[in-house]
Amino acid sequence: MEGRLRITEIFHSLQGETRSVGRPATFVRLTGCPLRCHYCDTAYAFHGGEWRQIAGILEAVRAGGNRLVVVTGGEPLAQADVLPLMTQLCDAGYEVFLETSGALSVAGVDARVVKVLDLKSPDSGECERNLWENLPLLNPQDQIKFVLCSRADYDWAKDVLAREALAERCEILFSPSHGALALRDLAEWILADHLPVRLQIQLHKLIWGDLPGH
Ligand code: SF4
Repeated sequence: MEGRLRITEIFHSLQGETRSVGRPATFVRLTGCPLRCHYCDTAYAFHGGEWRQIAGILEAVRAGGNRLVVVTGGEPLAQADVLPLMTQLCDAGYEVFLETSGALSVAGVDARVVKVLDLKSPDSGECERNLWENLPLLNPQDQIKFVLCSRADYDWAKDVLAREALAERCEILFSPSHGALALRDLAEWILADHLPVRLQIQLHKLIWGDLPGH
C-alpha cells in the first residue's frame, strides 16, 4: 500500500532559517511531536491534521512551484513514511531540507536530504532527549541548530560545541529563543568567544510576526 502521512499544512513562504534563509520554499508540516519544548511555536501541529497519500503531497508540492522543499513539524521523523516521501521528493529533483528535533534517529534519511538537526538546550525542557548517536550520521551539508534561552543555555552550547567538535562536522547555528534572549546579547557573546557558529534570526518572524501560514 502506498504510504500516507498525517499533515497539518502545506504552504508556501520564504524560508526563515538555516542556510537556505530568504528563499521561496514549499513547507510540508507533519502532525505530531513527542517533545514539548517550552518555547514551541508550532504547538498547533501536535494534534489534528489530515491523512494524505504521498502522491497527493507530491502533487501539492508540484503545484507550489518552488524548487526548495522544507519538511518540518512537529517532528517529521515520528512518522515512518516521511522517509519515502523525502526520497521521492529528491527523485523528483527538489532540494529537500528536513527540520528535526534531534530526538529521533536520522539513520534512514536519504543522503540527498539536508538535515537541520536541533540540539535541545537545558532551558528548552527537553535536553535529555538529545540523541547524541545522530552526530556521526551528519554530513558536511547538514546543519546543527541551537535555540538558546539564556546565558546558561549559551554556556552549555559552547561546551557541547567544544566537546563534540561540532564545527568540524557541519555548520552550527545559534538562534535566540524569540522573546527570551536578546539578539544583541547573543551576538556579543559569540564575538567575545570567537565561536565558529552562525548567528541566526527567524526572518519569517521579522516579516510576519506570529501570523499563521508563514
Ligand atoms: S521539537 Fe519542535 S515541534 Fe516539537 S515541541 Fe520542540 S519546538 Fe515544538
